[in-house]
Amino acid sequence: MAGDRDCIFCKIVSGEIPSVRIAESKEACAFMDIAPIARGHILVIPRDHYETISDMPPDAVAALFRLAARIAPQAQHAVGAEGLNVLQNNGRVAGQVVGHVHVHLIPRRGGDGLHWPWPARQAASQELRQIADDVISRLTNS
Ligand code: 5GP
Ligand code: ZN
Repeated sequence: MAGDRDCIFCKIVSGEIPSVRIAESKEACAFMDIAPIARGHILVIPRDHYETISDMPPDAVAALFRLAARIAPQAQHAVGAEGLNVLQNNGRVAGQVVGHVHVHLIPRRGGDGLHWPWPARQAASQELRQIADDVISRLTNS
């Protein structure tokens, strides 16, 4: 899986579109988000084009998160943040706008106006068991 010539992040990987680079590995690279949600917002992406995390081989996912994990504490400390969100959106319904896998590193401060948690509800234990069984059976057969 190499580059997609219509993909903005593939163009960033190749240097066709400029970016403010943070770090690189053989498999991934990191750069500043052009429209940060918070000060110090960084994106980490695989060099190869994959639309969602489900399209990636496990080794590529591991390499992507290895670079993200290396940068995360430094990104937080660089802007004097108290915490950091690691966010990875898959599919439009989940908020993915750019169709090339990316990990958001978002430094957080108290009172920064970003809101977590999302609304939660109580679930019946039967429902949890049913869903877990379905996932487990799919894992077993995959
Ligand atoms: P998504 O909503 O797909 O999870 O996030 C896409 C992110 O890519 C957004 O935070 C957006 O600001 C960032 N982005 C989109 N285009 C560019 C670009 O050309 N350069 C950089 N550095 N970031 C971009
Ligand atoms: Zn791409």
